[in-house]
Amino acid sequence: HACKLAAGNWKMNGLSADLEQARALAAAFPDPKCGILLCPPATLISAMAEAVSGSAVMVGGQDCHAQVAGAHTGDISAHMLADAGARQVILGHSERRADHAETSAQVAAKAAAAHAAGLVAIICVGETEAERDAGQTLEIVLSQLAHSLPDGANSANTVIAYEPVWAIGTGRTPTLDQIAEVHDALRAKLPDAAMSLLYGGSVKPGNAAEIFAIANVDGALVGGASLKAEDFGAIIAAL
Ligand code: 13P
Repeated sequence: HACKLAAGNWKMNGLSADLEQARALAAAFPDPKCGILLCPPATLISAMAEAVSGSAVMVGGQDCHAQVAGAHTGDISAHMLADAGARQVILGHSERRADHAETSAQVAAKAAAAHAAGLVAIICVGETEAERDAGQTLEIVLSQLAHSLPDGANSANTVIAYEPVWAIGTGRTPTLDQIAEVHDALRAKLPDAAMSLLYGGSVKPGNAAEIFAIANVDGALVGGASLKAEDFGAIIAAL
């Protein structure tokens, strides 16, 4: 598979003062064995890219519009993210799918825009608790995968993140067998078997090593525990 990746999603958190965390992370991992990515709010992308320039830490966005430019007040294009110093962009996060009613077809269009801008698209899939209880987990995540991948997606331009909605920000995680089951099913349906598969949802320093030991887990997409360099550093060290 492609090199392992520890990706931090700051969500709607972070002010200029928090760039210190990115600087500390860059200083702590001068020569990391895996990819390190921080996705701050759009307001911090340029400044963070500047703060970590020359280091191994990459910067990414949390969403982009499917168009290159135009009359879309409040939106940001993939080209703008790239111009600001982003190398990657998270797309189809469950919070975007829920808060903004994003469909998998829209996610695929955004991912195509990301690719056109030279960005790696990190496409998120995951079931709700009700869907898991109804035994629909694999059906849901495989459907999201099939419809969210644009033409031309490959292991160089696309990463998939499995994030069970009920595990996000809750401190609850699936069992290791449950993670393995979903990752095995996703791997079997990837257009390029070398594509990286991240797990996300309540990844912490205390559970990172056991999750990373699962065969088809190539890294993590981390929310709350990516905000502080100390916590995220402990997760990176486990990868
Ligand atoms: P937490 O790590 O805070 O559970 O968030 C996971 C997530 O949604 C990352 O995208």
